[in-house]
Amino acid sequence: MTTLQPVNARTGAAHGKPIAASSADDIDQAVTDAHQAFTAWAATPGDSRAALLRALADALEAERDTLVAWADLETALGPVRLNGELDRTTFQLRRFADLAQRGVPFEVLDDPAVAGSPPAAHAAMVRQRVPLGPVAVFAASNFPFAFSVLGGDTASALAAGCPVVVKAHPAHPGLSQRVAGVIQRVLRTLDLPLGLIGLVQGATVDAGVQLIRHPLIAAGAFTGSTRGGAALQAEANARARPIPFYGELGSINPVVALPVALAARGAELARTLAGSITLGCGQFCTNPGLLLMLDGPDTEAFIPQLVLALSRQQPHPMLSAAMRKAFDAGVRSLMDAGALSLLQGQGTPPAPGPQLLQVSAQRFIERAELREEVFGPSSLIVRCANLDEVRQVLEAVGGSLTVTLWGADEDTADNRALVRSAMQIAGRVLFAGVPTGVAVTAAQQHGGPWPSSTAPMTTSVGDAALDRFLRPVCLQDAPAWLLGRGGVPC
Ligand code: NAP
Repeated sequence: MTTLQPVNARTGAAHGKPIAASSADDIDQAVTDAHQAFTAWAATPGDSRAALLRALADALEAERDTLVAWADLETALGPVRLNGELDRTTFQLRRFADLAQRGVPFEVLDDPAVAGSPPAAHAAMVRQRVPLGPVAVFAASNFPFAFSVLGGDTASALAAGCPVVVKAHPAHPGLSQRVAGVIQRVLRTLDLPLGLIGLVQGATVDAGVQLIRHPLIAAGAFTGSTRGGAALQAEANARARPIPFYGELGSINPVVALPVALAARGAELARTLAGSITLGCGQFCTNPGLLLMLDGPDTEAFIPQLVLALSRQQPHPMLSAAMRKAFDAGVRSLMDAGALSLLQGQGTPPAPGPQLLQVSAQRFIERAELREEVFGPSSLIVRCANLDEVRQVLEAVGGSLTVTLWGADEDTADNRALVRSAMQIAGRVLFAGVPTGVAVTAAQQHGGPWPSSTAPMTTSVGDAALDRFLRPVCLQDAPAWLLGRGGVPC
């Protein structure tokens, strides 16, 4: 039997008993059970969906101490961050409960019949949406609650009327197993089929590949690396019947710090930025990995302030030894491609020290390696001679979850051009603050052009995450009984 061994992320030591990896039969069974639960769940009214989502949130909170302790052990993210993340996760579950109860998944567009001749005339038409079917959810390592077993993908899929089969992340198998136990207790209490929310554990990439290839899986929702997302997207497309694949991937999140902002608030911005670069040991998809600055005295004054503020930060150990190795390799790769190190923090092993590097705009545009996400507490300054170069650098980035513009507060031709460039490549454009911290709200857009997402028209965070799992259907001249269901599938 293949197993996964939970590991203490701070020491690398084995913790607790090994966990059985799911066999091919287990994965097939989980998907078959989800498929069997689909028709009934798709036809549930909003109240029933809300009851499940709220019960899951309550149950997570009831088990908080045990779950946070497991998460801390397997991720080293610390209880403060993890309690906050659990709060965000239950907030998200309850928010999707509210949306389901308000009838958002059942909204219909009524297009009454028009008499006369075509093309203006038409039959009575109603556009509504149906849930896609069982969703394969791929958990990320760096959000053991919010982008894991009961994270946003699971919550939004359930609210939309879809069962899920979660592929647990192998970096926190112990926590994932405990959350699965919480889920099963809730499903039993509510007399719902256990197959509605399944969990599979994989010791190798094969488990995820089998899951996304399964003919009864109707969509994939992935949070993780660009490489992993690309591999799974290719699998989703190579199926006999390709399926939608929503991949939220890596991102380098450019921050454009214009001289006007640096002159006004340089010291404060340096402290804020240093905190954002090292938050969670830099292990955020919204980590500000790229800083665009114009040559000149304000930038010259700002960089030493940033170096000082960063050197005072003490990142904690990373999620795993493999993540640490990848971080060191990523920093080396930037230097090999011509970036100059401005700060090489040594850290307190196994925690890495903060890294700050610098490169010219021209070099950045020439060398693709400089545009790779380095997952950890590091950032690369790109020195630009003028605003044209800033825009060229943004264009070279191509796709990002966020772009931050500090100092674009006036309505000028330059600022308009900058905003245009930022909106062209990012899902979220900020004009103050830092990109880390993604609010779960109505207007949120978490997903930008490739390589930050496989589906930039959609978001994995916020209310619109629900839309990913619903497919429009037009009902033409439908009978009254069907229209009377108010958009709830039969
Ligand atoms: P990861 O290593 O890509 O893992 C994510 C999931 O994909 C895991 O279940 C993993 O399982 C699976 N996987 C990876 N490669 C695969 C392959 N070739 N074939 C099949 N399955 C594969 O990502 P991670 O290390 O957890 O997370 C860090 C990355 O996620 C960073 O790049 C970060 O920026 C990104 N991230 C993005 C967002 C966002 O919302 N955009 C949020 C958080 C994190 P196995 O390990 O078992 O293969």
